[in-house]
Amino acid sequence: SHSVSWMDTVLVEPHTGYKKVLVTGGAGFIGSHVAEYLLSRGDDVVIIDEMNDYYDVSIKETNLKLLQEAYPEERVKIYKGDICDSVLMTHIFETEQPKWVCHMAARAGVRPSIQDPYIYIHSNIEGTTRLMELSHKYGVENFVFASSSSVYGGSKSTYFSEEEAVDHPVSPYAASKKACELLAYTYHHLYQLNVTGLRFFTVYGPRGRPDMAPFKFIDRISRGEEIQQFGDGKSSRDYTYISDIVDGVVRAIDRPYPYQIFNLGKGDGTSLKDFIGLVEKHTGKKAIKKILPDQPGDVPYTCADVSKAERLLGYRSKVSFEEGICRTALWYHSVHGQSVVESKKEETDYVAPSTN
Ligand code: NAD
Repeated sequence: SHSVSWMDTVLVEPHTGYKKVLVTGGAGFIGSHVAEYLLSRGDDVVIIDEMNDYYDVSIKETNLKLLQEAYPEERVKIYKGDICDSVLMTHIFETEQPKWVCHMAARAGVRPSIQDPYIYIHSNIEGTTRLMELSHKYGVENFVFASSSSVYGGSKSTYFSEEEAVDHPVSPYAASKKACELLAYTYHHLYQLNVTGLRFFTVYGPRGRPDMAPFKFIDRISRGEEIQQFGDGKSSRDYTYISDIVDGVVRAIDRPYPYQIFNLGKGDGTSLKDFIGLVEKHTGKKAIKKILPDQPGDVPYTCADVSKAERLLGYRSKVSFEEGICRTALWYHSVHGQSVVESKKEETDYVAPSTN
């Protein structure tokens, strides 16, 4: 059922040399796609994921199953547990001896971080510290981790570049990601750990997170259910298709830098109004909108300046927003079919589109 191909757009040239990569959060949306790509090109992957219930755990189980069905056990090793767990993580580094770490595990979501900041401090800050500490001790050659466009927060400009001073995170989630970047600098400074932070701009695509707007809008509009539109529809975000993100992450894994922070985005924005229009076009249904005021913690305009990633990683986003929405809608219908139209009517616990 997960037959929609996105990999044909991944740009990374065939690499030479064997890698064993520890992918944290490998059962999640982005981590599972990165793991799938690394396996497809011949790397071995070790996954650690705590399988938390931030969204439906069966989605994460399915993501892992896809990998396990496609690759033999010795190429994809799966550990379930918390990245903060000292005993477990030491065991993993000791037995697996990964030379590359791709750290995608985190508590994601801006609005839930305002409700419960402590789990964000735990997973994101303590977790990243644990991993960098072990990476330094076990001689990891490149440590790549997920940061977020949300670190730009209250920034006055609308076209975000890495050189900008970023000291206005407007949610605990954003602050936790900024803290990871600061700790990354520290580990680079103290131990010469090669570390690269990637500030993702709203990622979407097949297997996308059900708490985020692209999935929610496709899902709700397909089923003829109401969507919540925050603000007048003029707010605009930089949405990045998953294969572009995978491409950027793998480029960063293949090109160690002593310490770098890169934006990974599409490089232009789409207004909420146009976004909803495209979902209508590719689902063939009209949206029923409920218009609500802007939410605290939300950033109305985000747009990535990707020139640094282009220069130093050779990154270039390939998938237009319309193409990406079309592929995501195709995937959605291949997985959920039409049966969902009737069967899920009773679910009303709608969470607002997330903005990380
Ligand atoms: P996701 O929630 O699908 O994946 C994260 C995974 O990490 C989950 O499977 C979760 O179970 C796991 N995890 C969380 N805390 C853990 C812990 N303490 N120990 C072990 N595993 C743990 O989210 P995603 O969208 O795939 O995001 C991946 C990374 O990218 C995250 O760091 C996120 O903050 C970042 N990011 C995502 C977006 C986006 O638009 N999706 C944007 C910016 C940044």
